[in-house]
Amino acid sequence: MAAVAVVGAGVAGLAAACRLKRLGMRVVLYESGGRVGGAIQTEKRDGYLAELGPNSLASPSPAVRAILGELGLEPSLVTASPEARHRYIVRRGRPIALPTSPPELLTTRLLSNGAKLAVFGEPLVETGDRPVEESVATFVRRRFNQEILDYVANPFVAGIFAGDPEQLSVRHALPHLYDLEQTHGSLIKAMIQRGRARKSDEVGGDAASLVSFAGGLVELPEAMARQLGPAVRLNSAVTGIRRGPKGWTVGAAYQH
Ligand SMILES: Cc1cc2nc3c(=O)[nH]c(=O)nc-3n(C[C@H](O)[C@H](O)[C@H](O)COP(=O)(O)OP(=O)(O)OC[C@H]3O[C@@H](n4cnc5c(N)ncnc54)[C@H](O)[C@@H]3O)c2cc1C
Repeated sequence: MAAVAVVGAGVAGLAAACRLKRLGMRVVLYESGGRVGGAIQTEKRDGYLAELGPNSLASPSPAVRAILGELGLEPSLVTASPEARHRYIVRRGRPIALPTSPPELLTTRLLSNGAKLAVFGEPLVETGDRPVEESVATFVRRRFNQEILDYVANPFVAGIFAGDPEQLSVRHALPHLYDLEQTHGSLIKAMIQRGRARKSDEVGGDAASLVSFAGGLVELPEAMARQLGPAVRLNSAVTGIRRGPKGWTVGAAYQH
């Protein structure tokens, strides 16, 4: 039977290892740290629960729902209150609600008149046909301007990835936005059309919900680790991967 070594017990490594195990493969998951979850870290103290990294899953797809079901996590799911959809950005020392629709983008106190002009002109910007993969920052600057990047896109991207928009690929990090440009030629036009469609959809409801678990997001990696059992090797940092005549050898150092 084929054996697969997976490096890192973050949510990606755990999900890959669970899938491989379900396919009948022999899997070993090496994790350099003393716990599973990677960036996911929930802390419980004095009756409070705090997330030190990611805090929610956005609109789990049917595929993710199926995984949650297999892991027995459905009963533990907690959906965020609709109030949590309001995001605030601090500008000039005051929290201002993040605009979520084209009319709000044009009336918000968050943006200068120059930025509002960029919103107004966005439908006239040509669709990108970039031979080189475009970053989130270049995409937003090209379609809007630097201010929209700093005060709308960057806080949003930081909230999801805690990453640098200059480094993230728009196509892979924000495929939805990338597709909107390809299909509608403009993000603002797409938002307007989507808003109209939502109004005419009486049973649409709030599909874009945020979810977590009663015991915090850490329930997800812990449930996956339980499924893997002794295949998870904690405190085992992979130090090298070598190809030999009989296959690949993974070197791991046990850390106390
Ligand atoms: C502050 C913050 C907030 C976020 N908020 C959200 C959110 O709300 N919703 C959301 O969906 N996403 C959010 N994200 C993104 C999400 O957390 C990450 O995309 C995801 O957790 C990454 O998982 P991963 O398995 O790829 O990597 P990681 O979680 O980084 O896991 C990598 C693992 O590999 C281990 N490792 C590394 N090198 C070795 C080695 N040589 N040998 C063995 N093990 C090794 C590490 O110890 C670690 O455990 C957030 C990220 C951050 C940082």
